[in-house]
Amino acid sequence: MALALTCLLTLVVGVFGQEKTAESAARTAKAVKFGKLWDGKGKVWTNAIVIVEGDRVKEVTTDAKRIPAGAEVVDMSQYYGIPGMIDVHTHLTIYTDETPGVPMLKQLSNPPAVEVFLARKGALRVVEAGVTTVRDLGADQYNDIAMRDLINRGEMIGPRMFVAGYGLNVTQTPTQRDAAPVAGTATADGVPQVLKAVRQQVAAGADVIKMYASTGTDDDTTGFETYSYDEIKAAVDATHQFGKKIAVHSYGPDGARDAVRAGADSVEHATDMDDATIAEMVKRGTFYVPTIDHNRYYLDNWQKIGYADGFQTKTKAYIARNLETARKAHKAGVKMAMGSDAIYTMFGENTRELEWLVKAGMTPEEALKAATVNAAELLGKSDELGAVGAGYFADLVALEGDPTADISAAVRHVKWVMKGGRAVVDRTAAK
Ligand SMILES: [Zn+2]
Repeated sequence: MALALTCLLTLVVGVFGQEKTAESAARTAKAVKFGKLWDGKGKVWTNAIVIVEGDRVKEVTTDAKRIPAGAEVVDMSQYYGIPGMIDVHTHLTIYTDETPGVPMLKQLSNPPAVEVFLARKGALRVVEAGVTTVRDLGADQYNDIAMRDLINRGEMIGPRMFVAGYGLNVTQTPTQRDAAPVAGTATADGVPQVLKAVRQQVAAGADVIKMYASTGTDDDTTGFETYSYDEIKAAVDATHQFGKKIAVHSYGPDGARDAVRAGADSVEHATDMDDATIAEMVKRGTFYVPTIDHNRYYLDNWQKIGYADGFQTKTKAYIARNLETARKAHKAGVKMAMGSDAIYTMFGENTRELEWLVKAGMTPEEALKAATVNAAELLGKSDELGAVGAGYFADLVALEGDPTADISAAVRHVKWVMKGGRAVVDRTAAK
């Protein structure tokens, strides 16, 4: 805890220091040197120099003569560079702290301004983990849009956000204790309401649409399909009409089966998917975002969250099936992206999902791709995010250790982070 606080302080001081000279800094080129650089474009560079101008990469080279005169040289040559990582499933506005005696489940009804202000802490932890971009899948009161815009304006330090507004949900689910809408969801039943809800999110400024096609969240691992195929198809078609992408939540196989056939861009969680659905995903290029680690987080923190004792057996069994489904999907050739489903205090642990992906049979490099190039493709940003190359956002992470040999370097040994040309985390002095 003390260490985390020190990091936060260092970060805040660093950013205020930069604030004064933001304009001149943006005009000054930077040259970031890495001992090794995995560029996400199929190459591992030795003694790489990344030339940064403004918020973008100008070029990657090994030739020191290419460094522009007067450029600030950032020497990370004792570290291994990778592109800023992307977490394609977060709920950044559902941030809670560990106020003694107040279960995290009970901290979720703050006024919007309070919620967004508190959530800045989680946003900091996300960038400290080397995650410079997130796809945020569901929030109340358009708090996610506020956060995205504050971060883009430089008023809040956090990852670049692609946000969903309210996730579409049915009126009532079999396991819901009462009929009140679930936090961060918009109630929409039947095709006309589904169409209206999609249009409302787009009009509000959402970048992506989220639909909950099954039960299952928190300590509830049921996966009953809640929407019909026709409703899912209507949401998918309306979303695509706006040139956006849609992520469909399904804890169980039925919602995933219908989502894939309806043309969803990604299915989230989706445990126990059958072979035919997996084959269809390969054929269509549907992404699978397994989010295995969030249930690990729930098991580790259930008392602080406020779950009733007794859910653990089912959740452990769900994790095992989730991992098995990821293994099957990867083996079959399904495109996969890293999503944490981070909520509460899980921010900062976002990339632990990578260790599960390796357990599911990925090589460390395949896991890295799930958090970079694949994730960027799912966002529709393959030419700007998820790799280090000319024209890309200057999102760079320095790691201690080689992540292509051992993925834990990317998960547990982040030393320095640049987002959009600005250093936002520096732990290189810490031992
Ligand atoms: Zn989620």
